[in-house]
Amino acid sequence: MTRNTARGIFITGTDTGVGKTVAMLVLGIHLQKAGFNVGIMKPVQCAGKDASFLKKSLHLACDLTHINPYLAPEPLSPHLAFSRIKNEINASKIITAYQHLQQHHDIILVEGAGGLLVPLRKDYLVADLVRDMDLDLIIVARLGLGTINHSLLTIQAARAHGLHVRGIIFNATRPIMPGISQATPLGLPERTNPIIIRQLGHVAILGTIPYLKNFRRQEILTQCHLNLRLIIDRVPDASASQVPRQLAAWDKKYLWHPFTQMKDWLADEPLVISRARGSYLIDTQGRRYLDGVSSLWVNVHGHGHQTVNRFIGEQLNQLEHSTLLGLSNTPAIQLARKLVTIAPIGLNKVFYSDNGSTAVEAAIKIAYQYWQNTGCSNKRLIAHLANSYHGDTLGSVSVGGIDLFHQVYRDLVFPTMAVDFPDCYRAPRGKKYPDYAFECLERFATTLKKRHNRIAAFVVEPIVQGAAGMLMWPKGILKRMRELCHRYKIIFIADEVATGFGRTGKMFACEHEGVSPDILCLAKGLTAGYLPLAATLTTQEIFNGFVFDYKDQKTFFHGHTYTGNPLACAAALANLEVFEREKTLRTLVPKIKFLRERLNLFYNLPHVGDVRQCGFMVGIELVRDRQTKEPYAWQERVGTRVCQEIRKHGVILRPLGNVIVLMPPLSIAMDELTHLLDATYRAIEKKT
Ligand SMILES: *Cc1c(COP(=O)(O)O)cnc(C)c1O
Repeated sequence: MTRNTARGIFITGTDTGVGKTVAMLVLGIHLQKAGFNVGIMKPVQCAGKDASFLKKSLHLACDLTHINPYLAPEPLSPHLAFSRIKNEINASKIITAYQHLQQHHDIILVEGAGGLLVPLRKDYLVADLVRDMDLDLIIVARLGLGTINHSLLTIQAARAHGLHVRGIIFNATRPIMPGISQATPLGLPERTNPIIIRQLGHVAILGTIPYLKNFRRQEILTQCHLNLRLIIDRVPDASASQVPRQLAAWDKKYLWHPFTQMKDWLADEPLVISRARGSYLIDTQGRRYLDGVSSLWVNVHGHGHQTVNRFIGEQLNQLEHSTLLGLSNTPAIQLARKLVTIAPIGLNKVFYSDNGSTAVEAAIKIAYQYWQNTGCSNKRLIAHLANSYHGDTLGSVSVGGIDLFHQVYRDLVFPTMAVDFPDCYRAPRGKKYPDYAFECLERFATTLKKRHNRIAAFVVEPIVQGAAGMLMWPKGILKRMRELCHRYKIIFIADEVATGFGRTGKMFACEHEGVSPDILCLAKGLTAGYLPLAATLTTQEIFNGFVFDYKDQKTFFHGHTYTGNPLACAAALANLEVFEREKTLRTLVPKIKFLRERLNLFYNLPHVGDVRQCGFMVGIELVRDRQTKEPYAWQERVGTRVCQEIRKHGVILRPLGNVIVLMPPLSIAMDELTHLLDATYRAIEKKT
């Protein structure tokens, strides 16, 4: 859904005194002449009267408190100027004022304070403000000698902060030749510097402002030449153009989408995402959507996170890829060390691959071969929970039990042992939780006692069975199952592809019951949702089961070409850095509590059968009849209909059958979380 908001552009300078305010005025007058209702903002001002000068010159009626929320009396760097009056600049106050102005204008020109790297607070720069306001940048540079270096540095700094530079405006702050009128032709540097900056900086030149003796409207209109098309171009909220329609057509012509009935897809209009920031995805038409399932359960700290961007960027300049077959690389080593430090105790070795399915695939092959290598070749059977999901490659499909996805491949997969999962909501007739849970456990114990000589490994999704519909494990079962596996020498594989990296409120779901698996599979959130990477961690003991003379033929002959890709490993290192720096797990606690309280209200809806939550993993199961738990028929696609409805509220969700899944980025703000819950509530209310 479109947020009906004005477009904004942030105007920064290569330095102080390059004429940002003059550029603001010139831009304002030209845009007014072109028919725009122009608003201005000077969020932070240290001495001077720029804001009131602009307001007066552009005949604006808006209140100065919105135009200039922060004013300090001394001409100093903002962090200093405001600390001297015992005030501190707060971005959210600026954003609130900006949003107020948005309601009254078509376009808002926001003037910075000094350059991009000027601190507003001790650890908060002008560049951070531009990012948080989500604005594109126009850079004002001095026209003439000495501008190349300053301009290119500013462009570089902008891009390093993830900002989009829309272009550069050159301003002649002095007469080109003192004493001679401005009609004089430009000198050599004035003519050539902009061109070299355009080439080296890959930026558009938006215009040149000659030296202006006074600021008369007529003089500004006739003497300053601006490329207005480029200036207002690429504004996120630009109305529908040809480009999105063309992309949609090419999508239908060339793409085959995963887990998608393409007949339905081709009959519909595809939603094409072209940008993302924080908790929001932005489509090709500038519409913003809350990313309610973290782009399929992967995003952790929000989109376009500065630290993750920086780590990947720096790695890109060092080494993009080199193989782990016969060589090693720096970030792969650093990440392995880090993962071993944070993983449940006893997991000491890291085997990389590319995605969740391959992480499980490798785990199964390692477990199987371990027993072959160590002389227990009867242990060949892999056990798994009956309704599990471990991925889509054939090995992981073999240990999966979701018929809708897996039935068709039954002839291709290897035989396994399915173990009943104690589903607390849909226990068989006459059985009740927790008795039923312990009954399942008893049965599991009996089976192991009888057949452990043949069982190589038991693979589970600990605490939450994700794709099965966000099914929660009854308390204590994981720990008991793990103990039984230990007793009967069965390799216990925890597939934390979905639950890892804070999803359940702890770094790993196993921690909820103090469990250390023999093998741990990680993917999805590992790179904060940036790049495909997976890790299969094992104990030293399992690793030792592969360390023999080459001639013994006990090597683990498995590996993917992009194993340990340095860019992906750098993203994962950034992910863990942000967990520490932003204290992600701690800030999650009140959000999880809020979520729990608000989710209780969903029982007011008659077709909500069960609401399941563990941390930031939520499943809301819709049923035809709450009393009998009769499900909606799958043909009705009630989950899909609710998720289509919720798009009208600017939220993206993807259901699991009749279960509405909420799985927002861990970084989601409280008001965004409120919006997500409200929209979900209303969509379910409407469609059930
Ligand atoms: C998503 C998922 C997988 C598969 O991961 P891919 O990266 O899609 O191959 C495996 N196990 C669990 C628990 C998952 O949620």
